[in-house]
Amino acid sequence: MRQSHMFIPTLKENPADADIKSHQLLVRAGYIRQIASGIYSFLPIGQRVLRKVENIVREEMEKIGAHEMAMPALEPSELWKETGRWSTFGSELMRLNDRHNREFALGATHEEVITSLVRHEVKSYKQLPLTVFQIQNKFRDEARPRFGLLRGREFLMKDAYSFNESYESLDETYEKMFQAYSNVFSRLGLNFRAVIADSGAMGGKDTHEFMVLSEVGEDVIAYSDTSRYAANIEMAPVTAVYEKSAEAPIDMEKVETPGCKTMQEVADFFGHQLEEGLKAILFKVDEQFVLAVTRGDHEVNDVKLKNLYDAGVVELASAEDTKRLMGAGFGSLGPVGVPEDVDVVADAAVEALVNVTCGANEDGYHYKNATPEKDFHVSRYADLRFIQEGDPSPDGEGVIQFARGIEVGHVFKLGEFYSQRMNATFLNDQGKAETMIMGSYGIGVSRTLAAVVEQYNDDRGITWPANVAPFQVHLLSMNPKKEEQKELADQLYDQLLESGIEVLYDDRKERAGVKFADSDLFGIPVRVTVGKQAGEGIVEVKERATGEQKELSASEIADYIK
Ligand code: ATP
Ligand code: MG
Ligand code: MG
Ligand code: MG
Repeated sequence: MRQSHMFIPTLKENPADADIKSHQLLVRAGYIRQIASGIYSFLPIGQRVLRKVENIVREEMEKIGAHEMAMPALEPSELWKETGRWSTFGSELMRLNDRHNREFALGATHEEVITSLVRHEVKSYKQLPLTVFQIQNKFRDEARPRFGLLRGREFLMKDAYSFNESYESLDETYEKMFQAYSNVFSRLGLNFRAVIADSGAMGGKDTHEFMVLSEVGEDVIAYSDTSRYAANIEMAPVTAVYEKSAEAPIDMEKVETPGCKTMQEVADFFGHQLEEGLKAILFKVDEQFVLAVTRGDHEVNDVKLKNLYDAGVVELASAEDTKRLMGAGFGSLGPVGVPEDVDVVADAAVEALVNVTCGANEDGYHYKNATPEKDFHVSRYADLRFIQEGDPSPDGEGVIQFARGIEVGHVFKLGEFYSQRMNATFLNDQGKAETMIMGSYGIGVSRTLAAVVEQYNDDRGITWPANVAPFQVHLLSMNPKKEEQKELADQLYDQLLESGIEVLYDDRKERAGVKFADSDLFGIPVRVTVGKQAGEGIVEVKERATGEQKELSASEIADYIK
């Protein structure tokens, strides 16, 4: 494509609001532009890169037998009410009303939509397993949209959903997905790790996140330096669960007294110093109140609670109880939007919390199966503390290190949560109705693109890996006013196109310095410059990433690139 007619507005300076490399470079190099907080346009070269990432994802999905479809972005509230998520999803869900005042959500995720489709259309075990996916813009009204494409309010996601007849079959699908995700991120040249994620109540080895290692990541992962063990710290050993004990006396009467609202008040109330960033969650276990202290960002903990709720572990209880606890300052449920008539978390929740965060199972994961242990005693966990760097790895191999990561993908065994609530059943080979077993699998396509830039840049711009670069070759004519340069460059351009090479041709009447600076900024892997030696048919070839350069005759170029 000829650059003189392409819409690639570049900037000399970093945009004021951009703190991280991918945000700065994607804007400066003319890949994206913000229209409102967390909402971006993809300009032509940005769109080309996005398509490439998308296609790699698409190919890997198709290889494992997932089929692409497209679901609407407008989702009627009725479906979300069936699963309870109309209220539990909270303010992240973008809501709107139509002219008849019917409520809709802009798709943040599509479990409800796909389940409603499948329950009507799939009736027999013979049609299972079934895996479908789509690649589509998602909408989430993030509390803090930031870091450019990393946390947007409208962003491109690949979401896949599987329907299986048994948990064994789900395991197989999950395994394939896991492998497909590894392939995607490897093909993109990313340095990543698959980590045990917070399964909330799902328990077991039921969910993994794919984390791109990066200083700007919002997640912290705890990994062993010598084994495969890696977990999101979000779900790493909780923390402390204080039982009613001499050191941490819980004045039950005060718990019932509404009015203490801030963390400090909670801290004072319990006579502890609560470290900054800690959060207390009150649970009720066997008529005993237990204060679980978790660390991290409030949103993270809210998500954790939401997961517990989504998974059906948080039980519905009286509005009175909820109000009482919320009134007592344990406001962690507020922002998640757990409905007012839903109580905090009874026994099962604590069990789940403890199960996902304590101990190690036989495979070395530091959480246990979600199935409640009947003989659960809170007191056993009274001395828990955060996992820390230098601790022995829960799998017994090596010591724990921390690293920051960007969550680019998430695979999740959902089990029967949605299918049960939405009545998605099939007839088994005995003709008996059974609930479908589901999984869901997301990749943040636009976030992944930004993650690539985080790992591939230098002080002059982006250094794309070849298979996602917007073009393979950037062809420059240093001075197109010189007839022999223009002629050779035009000729090379046609020749490269004929050889099926994607080429951006800088035919602009700009100074050479401007062209080189833009070229470095764009990050196209190979630059071919037609300059002073055009008369002899000699051009300069330079590798963007390594800076390696050589002179070649124009006739050798196509072969060199292929
Ligand atoms: P996060 O923890 O970063 O908020 P999430 O766990 O809420 O992400 P999922 O519901 O697991 O996200 O969605 C699947 C994938 O979509 C994520 O792994 C991530 O790559 C991507 N994603 C989620 N939220 C955003 C966002 N606001 N902007 C860009 N990508 C996102
Ligand atoms: Mg989120
Ligand atoms: Mg997450
Ligand atoms: Mg996630």
